Amino acid sequence: MVVVAHADDAEFGCSGTVASWCRQGMEVVYVICTDGSKGTSDPSITSQELVQIRKREQEAAARVLGVKTVVFLGYEDSMLEPTLALRRDIAREIRRHRPDVVICPSPTRNLSHQGYIGHPDHIAAGEAALSAVFPAARDRLTFPELLAEGLEPHKVREVLISDRDNADTWIDVSDTIETAIEALQQHVSQVGGWDVAKGMRQWRANTGKPKNIPYAEAFKSFQFWVD
Ligand SMILES: [Zn+2]
Repeated sequence: MVVVAHADDAEFGCSGTVASWCRQGMEVVYVICTDGSKGTSDPSITSQELVQIRKREQEAAARVLGVKTVVFLGYEDSMLEPTLALRRDIAREIRRHRPDVVICPSPTRNLSHQGYIGHPDHIAAGEAALSAVFPAARDRLTFPELLAEGLEPHKVREVLISDRDNADTWIDVSDTIETAIEALQQHVSQVGGWDVAKGMRQWRANTGKPKNIPYAEAFKSFQFWVD
C-alpha cells in the first residue's frame, strides 16, 4: 500500500518500485489523502475541475503501473493535518486491504536541500500513515467504529519511508524506469512542459549512485515483528 498526500506523489517518489512489484504479481493499493484542488497556477481552472482532472490523471498513472485500486480520501489540498480522522481513515484502508508493506512520506521536515522546503501535506500524510500502521490498524480497541464496519485489526510487516537522506534500503528500478516515466507523464496538469524522462532518469540515477545501481529508489525501512 502506498499512502501519499497528493495525486502524483507516488509517481514522483516510488513508481519504479510500484511497477516492479506489480510486474511480480503483487497487488498494490494507492491511498491518496487530498483532493488535489490547489495544484495549479492556471487562473482558468477551478478547484472543482482540478479535482476531477487530477483524479483522472492519477487513475491513468495507476493503470500504467499496474495498480488496480486507488482510494481517494478527499481531504482538502494544502490543508492536510495529521488528525485522528485522517489516521482512522488510513487505518480503515490498511484493515480493509491488509498490506504487508506500506510506503509513506517522511513525517519530518527536511531542510537540507536548497530550493525545496517540503510540503506540509506530505509531513501530515507521513505522520498519519505511521500512526495508522501503529497502533491504529493493529489494535482491536482503537477506533471501535472500524470493528463495527467488519474490519479486523491488521499488522503491517514493513514500512518504507520515502526519505532519501536517511535511506537504508535501495530498490533497483532500472527495469521499470521507462514505465515509471510513462506513469509520471500522465499527470499532465502537474508536469506539463517539464522533461519528465530526463528529470526522472537524473533523479533515480542520483539515488542509485551510492550503491552503484543505475536507477534506484531509496527508503528508510522499519520492520515490525509479526507473529
Ligand atoms: Zn505532493
